[in-house]
Amino acid sequence: MIPGVRLVVLGRQGAGKGTQCVRLSRHYVVPHISTGDMLRAAVKERTELGLQADAIMKSGGLVPDEVMIGIVDERLCALDASTRGYLLDGFPRTVAQAEALDKITIDRPLDLVVDLDVPRELVLQRLTARRVCRDCGTIYTATGRERQPWLCDVCSGDVIQREDDTEDAINRRLDGYETQTRPLVAYYRSRGLLVRVDGVGTPDHVLHRLVTEIEYRRRNPIVG
Ligand code: ADP
Ligand code: ZN
Repeated sequence: MIPGVRLVVLGRQGAGKGTQCVRLSRHYVVPHISTGDMLRAAVKERTELGLQADAIMKSGGLVPDEVMIGIVDERLCALDASTRGYLLDGFPRTVAQAEALDKITIDRPLDLVVDLDVPRELVLQRLTARRVCRDCGTIYTATGRERQPWLCDVCSGDVIQREDDTEDAINRRLDGYETQTRPLVAYYRSRGLLVRVDGVGTPDHVLHRLVTEIEYRRRNPIVG
């Protein structure tokens, strides 16, 4: 039996966190917990959370820490996450969220925090071309030669551009990443949990790098 894993994936918008987490989630048989996906589902279902988050997300801002911490705390208590582990994608995004996560996971601490590194110029290109299935979240890259309407290969849902993938909102999110989320790199490095993984390359290459790092860390755990 392959052991599970408890992982946080950091990285700029468009670094490929979502794509890699889907693959890692199959590899390690642990849930991919994406706060962005959870919020988008809430918006779609028009829940109270969704109504609150909708405008914030469109503008490229951040949903308040207390709200996000509550959602993640609840999700990590579920049986799958509490037994096998999880891949956290999009959380924590602020130091306050990271401190809250330390408390939530005090009995089962994180194994590793991966900083998936892709230069800003490249993520800008990727995000402008990013399309996503409205129904199942599968991510595609537009070439401009797609048939319209563009239907998802997995579920036949509509493949669309996310409302916050406009140039303005992308730039605002990337700036927010530098000021609010980048400090987490130092936060986790000082705890000996951080590994930087080069996110440039094909999805298969990047997955291979990730699994290699995770397995290396498993064999050489940090003590103390
Ligand atoms: P991206 O990383 O491209 O911004 P996500 O899908 O991770 O995309 O998140 C989309 C939006 O959801 C964010 O711009 C933000 O408004 C909100 N969001 C997601 N995760 C968090 C979080 N941990 N804290 C606050 N807001 C969040
Ligand atoms: Zn789909």
